[in-house]
Amino acid sequence: MTVSVDRDLGSLSPAAFQERLEAWITEHATQLGEVQPDESLSVEEATASPRLYQRMLFDAGWLRAGWPAEIGGSGGSAERRAQVYESLSVAGFPSPETLPTLEVLVPALVKYSPELARQFVPAFLRGDELWCQGFSETEAGSDMAAMRTRARVADDGWVITGHKVWNSYASVSDRCVLLARTGEQSDRHRGISAFLVDMDTPGVEARPITTMTGRNELSEIYFEDAFVPADRLIGEVNRGWDFAMFLLQWERGMYAWMRQAWLHQKLARLAPLVAEVGPTRELGATYARVTALRLVARRTLRRLADGDFVGPEASIDKLLLSSCEQAVLDLARSTLRGEFELDDSAEADQWRGDFFYTRSASIYGGAAEIQRDIVATRVLGLPRVR
Ligand SMILES: Cc1cc2nc3c(=O)[nH]c(=O)nc-3n(C[C@H](O)[C@H](O)[C@H](O)COP(=O)(O)OP(=O)(O)OC[C@H]3O[C@@H](n4cnc5c(N)ncnc54)[C@H](O)[C@@H]3O)c2cc1C
Repeated sequence: MTVSVDRDLGSLSPAAFQERLEAWITEHATQLGEVQPDESLSVEEATASPRLYQRMLFDAGWLRAGWPAEIGGSGGSAERRAQVYESLSVAGFPSPETLPTLEVLVPALVKYSPELARQFVPAFLRGDELWCQGFSETEAGSDMAAMRTRARVADDGWVITGHKVWNSYASVSDRCVLLARTGEQSDRHRGISAFLVDMDTPGVEARPITTMTGRNELSEIYFEDAFVPADRLIGEVNRGWDFAMFLLQWERGMYAWMRQAWLHQKLARLAPLVAEVGPTRELGATYARVTALRLVARRTLRRLADGDFVGPEASIDKLLLSSCEQAVLDLARSTLRGEFELDDSAEADQWRGDFFYTRSASIYGGAAEIQRDIVATRVLGLPRVR
């Protein structure tokens, strides 16, 4: 596959960047079409073509834009990345499935451990590696400060013991950004540290979980006395919570932006079908909702790109995102009634898979009830109800 390499895209103005980007997408539409994934495949197969797609975008310079030079980027604002994700989606090519994890993990790693970021992120950005996020545990999902996976001090490093669950892509990942307890259990969020762990470390095992979409994209990860070198600590000991809170803003901000682009693309596919069979009123209401999400996510993204700490306000984006995801796929289900349930075509399979995945949007990255609680108490300042 031949692509024109441009390493200086990050320094272009937003308008010049957009013009070059759209021209490149048009020029490479055939190649982009060839690397689009078949989402019905297993996660091993389904992450192979996104990695090729990611590499193609990287080699052409688009995935370098908006990332610092130290990690293989060409500089410029994070808004350039947002332009890339949306423009690809508008042209019918949703961003590679491997990128949301990159967007969630890397900004926080760059801030809290620039040296680790310099050493390890370039391979992740190029698509040569895939990483996962090891935060949740069976008794510590919403209440993450209750986590029990422990990191004990050892010679020149740490020994990790414990169990994580619901980790996206862990079974096909090369590294894991892990949160583990380094203080006492009673220290809650003040006794947690973050680490960058190689998934091929002896004592680390990821076991895939098949979800109701039929894909085995989630995993649980077992740590049995797994040794992690001292220089893989991210930030400071017992300050992993600060790292996680910084990370969550990107998980809610940039991720919401990427998904709104994907949702707009889904609506564009649905619109002509709705025009034939109805329900047009529902289409209008859903479009308005997804547009509201776009505007809110854009505001958050601008603040993050400017270095602002968005904090609890990012929960508003997360809530809007989960309701939009479910509304768009509810609309698909009511529009394609019959075909949605019974058709064997790849297209129907895709709509069903998307429908089931969007049911989890009000759980992953922080459940809706918890987000409402954060908005009520920490954004609106309402009293806590016990
Ligand atoms: C598709 C998907 C991908 C994921 N990817 C990852 C990943 O890559 N890495 C990772 O670490 N984790 C991941 N997760 C896990 C996710 O972050 C957790 O599922 C989420 O934080 C909720 O935790 P839980 O599942 O333990 O549910 P629980 O915390 O047990 O919550 C169950 C229900 O109880 C409600 N509830 C809990 N506490 C309260 C309260 N105080 N007040 C009111 N209601 C409450 C919740 O809102 C929810 O409805 C993923 C989850 C999904 C579904």
